[in-house]
Amino acid sequence: MQQKTETIVCPGCGAINRAPADKLASGAKPKCGKCHAPMFTGEPIAAGNAAAFDRHISQGSLPVLVDFWAEWCGPCKMMAPMFAKAAQSLEPRLRLMKIDTEALPEVAARYGIRSIPTLIMFKGGREIARQAGAMDTASIERWARQAILG
Ligand code: ZN
Repeated sequence: MQQKTETIVCPGCGAINRAPADKLASGAKPKCGKCHAPMFTGEPIAAGNAAAFDRHISQGSLPVLVDFWAEWCGPCKMMAPMFAKAAQSLEPRLRLMKIDTEALPEVAARYGIRSIPTLIMFKGGREIARQAGAMDTASIERWARQAILG
């Protein structure tokens, strides 16, 4: 029987790794085969450039939950620790990522981000759900689960 595998982009070195889906579902947190760093640390990763963002949303098979934020945005700062906490329960079934809309305005423009914070769930490189406005940890978790199941 063929085992279902997930494709995971290493946040450290960008290498494409494969891991059995059932292991991930049971909470295993695999290390990168190339740089040997843990690929899930229970924290959102920050995309440093548009290429890294594209690689994660289009090369990986896991859904990617992206928080579009900015340093000057009060509600974004309020939500940051709650988003970080949601990573602890949602990983490794999804990847959580932050996009600084000041540093990467081209990414924000591509998705027509009008207000922040905005959360977008990506699957297979496509947007599948979007929610604007700050949410607490429980709401983020509930929304994320609904987005990937629905
Ligand atoms: Zn790596």
